[in-house]
Amino acid sequence: MSGSSSGSGILQLQGASFGYADRAVVRGVDLDVEPGEVVALLGPNGSGKSTLVRGLLGLNEHLGGSVRLFGTEVERLRDRYRLGYVPQRHTLSASVRATVEEIVAIGRLPHQGWFARRSRADQQIVRESLELVGLSDRAQEDVSTLSGGQQRRVLIARALAAQPDVLIMDEPTAGIDEASQYVLADVLHRLVARGTTMLIVTHELAALRDVVSRIVVLTSGRVIFDDTPAAYAERRAADELAHTHGGHHHDDELPARRPTPTGAHGPVDHLGAP
Ligand code: ADP
Repeated sequence: MSGSSSGSGILQLQGASFGYADRAVVRGVDLDVEPGEVVALLGPNGSGKSTLVRGLLGLNEHLGGSVRLFGTEVERLRDRYRLGYVPQRHTLSASVRATVEEIVAIGRLPHQGWFARRSRADQQIVRESLELVGLSDRAQEDVSTLSGGQQRRVLIARALAAQPDVLIMDEPTAGIDEASQYVLADVLHRLVARGTTMLIVTHELAALRDVVSRIVVLTSGRVIFDDTPAAYAERRAADELAHTHGGHHHDDELPARRPTPTGAHGPVDHLGAP
């Protein structure tokens, strides 16, 4: 599958810079995402997380360095169709009169509109996508009747329907209640079990703690940390210790503590422990 001439990474960034007009916001990022990895992208507000992921998707300027997918430099918009995207704080407008299934089907054939004829295979993929996000029984309902958390799952299913190689999510748990965040985490677990590679922008790591296999921290547009969740927890504990003794600390760039879900025994179980 990979056909890569340069390492096994699905998505490889080398010295990549992204921004707006000619202003680079994210600078010189090196990142190599392996198949099946789930990378959490953390950082304070304004550090450039959205700029980075939207830059990967071609939604803002790529100002330098290289971005490769399966070893091939991404140049044209069509190269990016292999990246699935669930945008930040996106809710489906109350005025959209469509069923859940119709919204997901748009992800299957995005250029052919809502009324395109879809093959049996397409319809099957749409059904599977709905099943993965646990919304099969809501398929025929008007999407506007669903809760915010359920709509977020509809949008994940819409992205999955395109069968992307990497699923990029911008703050998937933001703006939904805690119970819904854990439902969403269950969905992500299901994707992890299928080997889905994910890049997740988040500031609420608690709900996703045992989904994530790697943590990248961005500050002022630069990567300042890239390692395992366990190493991140250690670093965080060391920073807190330094803070207690009046030293420099990075609290701003670290996620707020949230309660541990019962039964979570993931690799970052101790994350947030002092
Ligand atoms: P984060 O996602 O980490 O909160 P953003 O990527 O949204 O950070 O923002 C990083 C910087 O990019 C901020 O300084 C912000 O003002 C700037 N920025 C974001 N969107 C735009 C835009 N559309 N045009 C110009 N600058 C922008």
